Amino acid sequence: MLSKTVHKVLNDQITHEFYASYLYLSMAAYFETQNLPGFARWMEAQSEEERKHAMKFYNYINDRNDSVELQAIAQPPSEFQSPLDVFEQVFKHEQKVTALIHKIYETALKENDYATHAMLHWFINEQVEEEKSARQIIERLKMTGGESSALLMLDHELGARGANAS
Ligand code: MG
Repeated sequence: MLSKTVHKVLNDQITHEFYASYLYLSMAAYFETQNLPGFARWMEAQSEEERKHAMKFYNYINDRNDSVELQAIAQPPSEFQSPLDVFEQVFKHEQKVTALIHKIYETALKENDYATHAMLHWFINEQVEEEKSARQIIERLKMTGGESSALLMLDHELGARGANAS
């Protein structure tokens, strides 16, 4: 069994990860309306990854012989200004998730919960990657300078990642 405080932050994190999955699916839907199928595939793959993150926490709570209590998932935004606006929001969201993961780590430290520390190492490394990829796409989008041919090339490139990731 987990301590009460560690259980709470882990259980809450399931909801945060599902929200991220929902948010990225909403962003995929936006890219569909913008005729940018590559960006949409990339976001779909990202949404699927977030669902897997949620399931890692779900499985971990079960492995520790504790109970999962699923919570309501908030409605994500559905309107965005531009591809750059989307990725700036992705970056901000991932920074928020990083802070949440660090908070769980701190809580586990206080409770001397070594197994939870070990489990969280994967997430701490994953967040470095998540922030890096969002930052890179932001920089690439800025380079296009609003030129549609450059945007279409980036769309093609991101679509390839989307197809490989799932
Ligand atoms: Mg995540």
